[in-house]
Amino acid sequence: MFVRLCISLCGVSLLLGSAAAHASTPRGFDVLHYDVALVPDIAHKRVTGQQTLRLRAERELRAVTLDSGALTVTAVMQADRALAFAQHDAKVQITLAEPLPTGDTASVTIRYHGEPAYGLEFAPERDEVYTIFSTSQWMPSVDAPDERATLDLSVTLPAGLLAAGTGRALPLRTLPDGRIEHRWQLETPMPGYVYGFTAGRYQEATQQHGTIGLRFLSSERSPAQLQRVFTATGGMLDFFADRAGLPYRGDYQQALVARTIGQEMAGMSLMSERYGQQMLEDPTQTALMAHEAAHQWWGNRVTCAGWEHFWLNEGMANFMTAAYLQQAQGEAAYQAQVTIWRTRLDALRAKGADHALVYAEWNAPTGDDRAVVYQKGAYVLHLLRVEMGEAAFWRGIRDYTRANDGRSVVTVDFQRAMEAAAGRSLQPFFAQWVYGVG
Ligand SMILES: [Zn+2]
Repeated sequence: MFVRLCISLCGVSLLLGSAAAHASTPRGFDVLHYDVALVPDIAHKRVTGQQTLRLRAERELRAVTLDSGALTVTAVMQADRALAFAQHDAKVQITLAEPLPTGDTASVTIRYHGEPAYGLEFAPERDEVYTIFSTSQWMPSVDAPDERATLDLSVTLPAGLLAAGTGRALPLRTLPDGRIEHRWQLETPMPGYVYGFTAGRYQEATQQHGTIGLRFLSSERSPAQLQRVFTATGGMLDFFADRAGLPYRGDYQQALVARTIGQEMAGMSLMSERYGQQMLEDPTQTALMAHEAAHQWWGNRVTCAGWEHFWLNEGMANFMTAAYLQQAQGEAAYQAQVTIWRTRLDALRAKGADHALVYAEWNAPTGDDRAVVYQKGAYVLHLLRVEMGEAAFWRGIRDYTRANDGRSVVTVDFQRAMEAAAGRSLQPFFAQWVYGVG
């Protein structure tokens, strides 16, 4: 199960070519804040939205280009002035009212609607709607993972649904027509792909784990079953916090939704109802929930600056999952993961599909490309652990994570932190295993 899940965790198959291009193309602006009001129509799989984004010009700025997926933008305003805009290639290019001098800020309001084929997932048979990875499919935004901004998110839904979203939950508002406006405020700047929410006809269970409020949601599981499915959550967060050298921040929510291979968001993660059933049948199958929990540090807080460094998110999350299993279930559980990674790498080599962990052509990743990032990436971290020894390796992981909390990183940031902990150059290792083909 773990092999199959790990090949395609976290919606990687939805990565778009445009994202890779963005990582290397200066945008000329920094988004400071998005304020988004969304009205999903679950029965018809449609959405309407309005958002205001505040940005700062990094050079004199005449136009702003955002990723907008398959959304149709109907109007763009700057103060009271309607702005010209054009949509092509899953982007919207907005011409500002007048050039914005370097360092100045401006706010732009965008109205839009659409029927997203992915990114915003609808399950009308369950009265459910949730987001998966591709945020620009439901709000015009910057896909590139090196862009961090704060977020106010409002989602208006029929009465009777429970929802979880990224950020601190604000009080619900009941509209005159009886609909409910759910609101969240994300006060720490985060990359756009970890924005999102889920809503459905859920049952819920809660736990308090130290300072962390845990909340579990599902349409098919009773509160008692949810407590069993997610019983390991608190221990997982403690383990990763210790390895990261950074305490978990805020509350953590997990929801079982109609269909997903697993998706992390800021302060929450989604798994499938099917996975919940598997957990009830075999409580040792914690790898997927551990993988998503690990992303709260490696992915969400320390984020690859471009998708060519995606192994820093996914190889790390897989490796940390195995390290958690080693602590929770014993050495054999860790070694079983190492064997799975090495076997997959051997298979890649046998068919000539192995390549460097860092590579620019992340445009239409194949299953083999994902195996390089997810499984070879984890295997290389295991080899580095052996190369450096326990004390230096974990000191390096902690130093790297703490130094880059809230930042976007490239592979050399990781290499430098590990070399500092090792007290020596690791260039031969990185040349062979990270930049080369092992
Ligand atoms: Zn992942």
